[in-house]
Amino acid sequence: MPPENQDCARKDEIIEVHAISPHLKLIDLQPPIPGYERFIGAYLFVGKQKAIIDPGPTSAIPNLLSALAEVNISPDEIDYVILTHIHIDHAGGAGTALRHMPRARVVAHSQALKHLADPTKLWEASLKTLGDLALQYGRIEPVPEERLVAAEDLMNIDPGDGLFLEVHLTPGHAAHHLSLFDRQNGVLIAGEAAGVCVNGAIRMATPPPFRLDETLSSIDRLISLEPKTLCYGHFGCYSNAVERLRLARSKLLQWYETVGSAVREAKTLEDILALLRSKDRDLDYLDTLSKDAYRREHDLLINSINGLSRSAREND
Ligand SMILES: [Zn+2]
Repeated sequence: MPPENQDCARKDEIIEVHAISPHLKLIDLQPPIPGYERFIGAYLFVGKQKAIIDPGPTSAIPNLLSALAEVNISPDEIDYVILTHIHIDHAGGAGTALRHMPRARVVAHSQALKHLADPTKLWEASLKTLGDLALQYGRIEPVPEERLVAAEDLMNIDPGDGLFLEVHLTPGHAAHHLSLFDRQNGVLIAGEAAGVCVNGAIRMATPPPFRLDETLSSIDRLISLEPKTLCYGHFGCYSNAVERLRLARSKLLQWYETVGSAVREAKTLEDILALLRSKDRDLDYLDTLSKDAYRREHDLLINSINGLSRSAREND
């Protein structure tokens, strides 16, 4: 369990909060990790009731609470904490956040609930995959079982004032991934279902175990919603949502093909990254990053290539 005073540690820093729609705000969680500024976004959805989507890792919960204070919302006004998926960078802090939010319930994919109630396996898997980074994200506290709600496909979460967040199950980036659609405002909160957008450039996020068909169907489902605005877990909200979803779809196919043929030639993951960079000019964004942000992106890209290459090998 984190020390009790950790919640006050970064109180005097200003957390960036961006208004996306009259009902939606984007919070830059900026966990205390070098190179993680403007990378992990939490969303605050405000109707009569209030929801936080993806509270972030444990080490960013103090910043989440500071952001709420900046917009004059008390943590006890939060009714829902909704998780697009339970990877540590999006959901690791849910249990810690809940200690400050006495009435909030956590909404997540039904397959994810047991890992939230007992995060032992989630924490071990995070440590194994991420090593030191998992420690920087912070240990995962459990969510009390009675505060967990299973998200069903096409379920409406009703925050009042005629607003609804529709749940769309979008497996791919993770088996337990879901996206949220505010139909009234045309805003889609897509987590990592349609890749990641760093400094305006779209890249894929396909860690193992990755399944191509599932991911494509999920993107197709999101396109059929005809959203106006696309909000990424990493990072920010953009117009031309349908165009962005179509680009993610075609980029995914292009990457899959490139990685698949490189794997057959027994190329290393680093070689495949170099090959992808030569074929996809959007990856030039890597040249614009700070050293720390580059390391972050490099490691995530290698993991994504690993997911694609394992999947391509299985399908051969
Ligand atoms: Zn993520």
